[in-house]
Amino acid sequence: MEDRNLAKTYNPKDFEERLYNEWLHKGYFTPKIDKSKEPFTIMIPPPNITGQLHMGHALDNTLQDVLIRWKRMQGYTTLWLPGEDHASIATEVKVEAELEKQGLYKKQIGREKFLEKVWEWTHKYRARIREQLMKMGASCDWTRERFTMDEGLNRAVREVFVRLYEKGLIYQGNRIINWCPKCMTALSDAEIEYEEKEGRLYHIKYPVKDSDEYVIVATTRPETMLGDVAVAVNPNDERYKHLIGKNLILPLVNREIPVIADEYVDMEFGTGCVKITPAHDPNDFEVGQRHNLPQIVVMNEDGRMNSLAGKYEGLERYEARKQVLKDLEEKGLLLKVEEHNHNVGTHDRCKTVVEPLLSKQWFVKMKPLAEPAIKAVKEGKVQFIPERFAKVYFNWMENIQDWCISRQLWWGHRIPVWYCDDCGRLTVQVEDATKCAHCGSTNIHQDEDVLDTWFSSALWPFSTLGWPEKTEDLEYFYPTSVLVTGYDIIFFWVARMIFSGIEHMGEVPFKYVLIHGIVRDSQGRKMSKSLGNGIDPLEIIDQYGADALRFTLVTGNSPGNDMRFYMERVEAARNFANKIWNAARFALMNLDDEVLKSFDETYLNTADKWILSRLNKVVGEVTENLNKFELGIALQKIYDFIWSEVCDWYIELIKPRLYGEDVKDKASAQRVLKEVLVDSLKLLHPFMPFITEEIYKHLTDEMPSITIARWPEYREDRVFEKEEVNMNHVIDAIRAVRNIRTEMNVPNSRRAKVMILPASIDIKGAFEEGRIYFEKLAYASEVIFPDKEEIPKDAVSKVIPGGEIFLPLEDLIDREKEIERLSKEKEKLEKEVERVNNKLSNPGFINKAPQKVVDEEKAKKEMYEDMLRKVIERLEALKN
Ligand SMILES: [Zn+2]
Ligand SMILES: [Zn+2]
Repeated sequence: MEDRNLAKTYNPKDFEERLYNEWLHKGYFTPKIDKSKEPFTIMIPPPNITGQLHMGHALDNTLQDVLIRWKRMQGYTTLWLPGEDHASIATEVKVEAELEKQGLYKKQIGREKFLEKVWEWTHKYRARIREQLMKMGASCDWTRERFTMDEGLNRAVREVFVRLYEKGLIYQGNRIINWCPKCMTALSDAEIEYEEKEGRLYHIKYPVKDSDEYVIVATTRPETMLGDVAVAVNPNDERYKHLIGKNLILPLVNREIPVIADEYVDMEFGTGCVKITPAHDPNDFEVGQRHNLPQIVVMNEDGRMNSLAGKYEGLERYEARKQVLKDLEEKGLLLKVEEHNHNVGTHDRCKTVVEPLLSKQWFVKMKPLAEPAIKAVKEGKVQFIPERFAKVYFNWMENIQDWCISRQLWWGHRIPVWYCDDCGRLTVQVEDATKCAHCGSTNIHQDEDVLDTWFSSALWPFSTLGWPEKTEDLEYFYPTSVLVTGYDIIFFWVARMIFSGIEHMGEVPFKYVLIHGIVRDSQGRKMSKSLGNGIDPLEIIDQYGADALRFTLVTGNSPGNDMRFYMERVEAARNFANKIWNAARFALMNLDDEVLKSFDETYLNTADKWILSRLNKVVGEVTENLNKFELGIALQKIYDFIWSEVCDWYIELIKPRLYGEDVKDKASAQRVLKEVLVDSLKLLHPFMPFITEEIYKHLTDEMPSITIARWPEYREDRVFEKEEVNMNHVIDAIRAVRNIRTEMNVPNSRRAKVMILPASIDIKGAFEEGRIYFEKLAYASEVIFPDKEEIPKDAVSKVIPGGEIFLPLEDLIDREKEIERLSKEKEKLEKEVERVNNKLSNPGFINKAPQKVVDEEKAKKEMYEDMLRKVIERLEALKN
């Protein structure tokens, strides 16, 4: 027997936390491996521990929770595995800034102490993230929570490093990498943001040795000329053929550099002469390799010039540029300066212009890993939703460069490589090394660098399940079902998980990638700290409840597209919750177990069959929408059904029966109401888990919790096509009568005859059965089916698909009084029109008032004129 005392008003604070704790306590989110059942698995995109969750996380996690809850109700063994990401560089930068406020500097306190501070930070923020997810209702299995730097994941990272190293897919090399002089670390291509910026192109004369001749080179970064080792021309360029093999005098440095021939040079571009600086430009690096040229690094890692830059040593890069230009100018070697827009790369986190720099780093060889990963998506083993994002993926993967994975940071997985100070060879292994693997010397030291943060998150779908151990979890839950994430991390993360899964597990990590956009403010701007337009999901939850927040996020969303966050929508969501709450309370007050016992299926009437049939259709459609990841459309359908068909119609339609005397009739109304509400709650549960659970517990005892209740299924025996059609005719007719009454300002107290000319005998039956609805819901004094000739000439009519509706005018209005009322209305409107016209013909107003105000007046004029026209029409009709 259910406890029918649902609280009087909907107040999410009364039950959200209580219910979440109950779910946790009962272990509903912790799956038991059952090989006879199919698993459904989602790995959370681990939030960075850099701060608390923002609206984007709220969206991402709501979508995941909807899928997980839905599949759990469908009977799958569902695992939603939560966890957090250590977010190497992002966290390090944050903690560093935090410490600096206290006057502490990373380099001063040293690695160990610094890492201690970061761990403190980590504990604090992991707890905070966990708490936030719980508040949102996320049905994660917290017993399986992971962290990218926990013991198991550290082990997975090392294992992968060693395996790839041994396969020759990880190598150390001197390469041009993107360097951030501010963060003092190497960056991967994915961390660079390119932006078209105004710049200058400097044309510089390089004299030919022992000659009056010179060549002209053009550059946007003149300070790098200090590291030039050659000038290249195209071998087919007639202008320079005679110079190939000769030497030039590098200005300012006075070093001799050769003129070389290389096909890479475009004869059409600029002067056809290109300065070659292998240590500071990726293309020049390649040319240098082909021609065996030296590499001269003239800049330090902090962006200042070094001793190889001669007199410019110690100058910051842009200072050096100024000085170099000044000196060239003095020597008459600066030929011209052109305005020149070019692409400038900046570090995505600190916005510093990155410097291409020659540096010894660790790389992952990408071609052999990318190929099978491209194939897997082409073959449909992984599907992007929407599909257009596969293009983004292919584009990146097909042009992929080797992945620079070493970072000059402290927070992260330290590279498992030890250098021998005696024999100079490398020891690369999973366990901490105590001696050189080659000569046995204990004079070894570990590589100082840590791995790119995405190195560990790339392994997330399997490292979290216990890999490299062959755990039961790994065997059962891998590959996972869906990855839900934003389009901004397709390269960083999605692509890397796909090739890592294929390489280490032999199988793609997930079948579907559901891509969502970002949450913008109501004006379409990105939410950001600097704009101060961010909305804290916790505040929304505090004010409106988690269900309202979730509803807002899902309804506003369609796969792949950005969405806007409107407070009005949150309020509408809360109103919806109120509506359901009140409907549930109404039902609970009217359900009677004794009466329900006498339910007899044969007593179902048209309205009952209509709502059951509609429910059945909604079940089918919503399930289909969810199968296609159309979460927003699914929720909209559930909303429309509950709000309009259940609350506005069905409940109103059955009121006379609920309050009536016929027990059998009463029983079927009660029974259907209960069934429709319970199933509606189930459909809504994945989206609004708390309110649905709270009501469900009061409404039925079929299961101890709606989280484990069975998802409704489409049933052929619940299709009542005829009743649906008939009921829709009745509803249309009632709407038509109501509309007429509203248009004519008829007070509810004034009842009117409803005359119907039905389109068929069958429909007539439906109207006859629905007589009582017209009386209760459309203020009908009676419903009659007259012959056409019997209908008064002045009756007001509306045509609906089921026939024609007539309301005798005399029933609706008092002719004399109405004429009087309309005449007064006419006078009033005429005055308004005159007033607006005067205003608009006044030059003082037209010329001085802001355009907006003028437009408003014009709109008013139109409105009043329109109203006046209608009043005059009505008056004339009445007078005839
Ligand atoms: Zn930086
Ligand atoms: Zn050694």
